[in-house]
Amino acid sequence: MTPPTVTTQLTLLPPPLEWHIQEVPKRKTASGRIRGSIGVISIPKQWSKAYKQEVIQTLQRRLEKAYAKTTQPAVPKNNQADPPLLPANASMTLNIQTVEALADYVFQLNAETFKHPLKSVKIGRSKYSSLAYIKVKTGEMTVSKYSLGFAIPEPAFRYLILHELAHFLEPNHSPRFWQQVARFCPDYKIQRKLMQAYHQSQVQQVDLLLPQKSAIKPNSNPQKQEKIINKALRFLGKTIHSMLE
Ligand SMILES: [Zn+2]
Repeated sequence: MTPPTVTTQLTLLPPPLEWHIQEVPKRKTASGRIRGSIGVISIPKQWSKAYKQEVIQTLQRRLEKAYAKTTQPAVPKNNQADPPLLPANASMTLNIQTVEALADYVFQLNAETFKHPLKSVKIGRSKYSSLAYIKVKTGEMTVSKYSLGFAIPEPAFRYLILHELAHFLEPNHSPRFWQQVARFCPDYKIQRKLMQAYHQSQVQQVDLLLPQKSAIKPNSNPQKQEKIINKALRFLGKTIHSMLE
């Protein structure tokens, strides 16, 4: 008798909405919007606590409905399921979009590992060179905004921060440097590639959303724009697949 075959279908579930509530002084009305998997609600600071709570709940209900509609899984035309886009451990992602969230993560990781005299953390805008860098003399770490986002692969990002922290001990990428990284991240070679791929995909995505004047001219023809967008999407697809290999 043959044992029953078990097939597992990996589907990409939408991440749950995470709420950011902003109390804004001098504001007259409340509003809400969704960015990725983040629901942002802005509400006048001067409103009473009870009224604020009521309005926030109403907005949350409405945004959740809208979000559920946009994240319905698409049914493939040929009835064949698409391969999963993200690895099985895709839930191990970080949502780091502010310097506060970045500092929380970095200082915590430093406290758990190297315990270096790290002084400050900031967000840079390096696109093509470094994903992050550290000035050992001043203890100041800078992480490129393209290394951040709402779904950063956690093990890869952890590697990136450990890499920068290891520079406190070894300024160059010598074998001794990599030994330091490997103390806390034995699979650093894989994580390094993952982080580079993630950074690249962020560069493409952000450029897609905010086209530079030189990339897409306002009066350029729609066919040309479609070409540019398709090219970026193909690149993204390739990046995600190369991350899986
Ligand atoms: Zn380095």
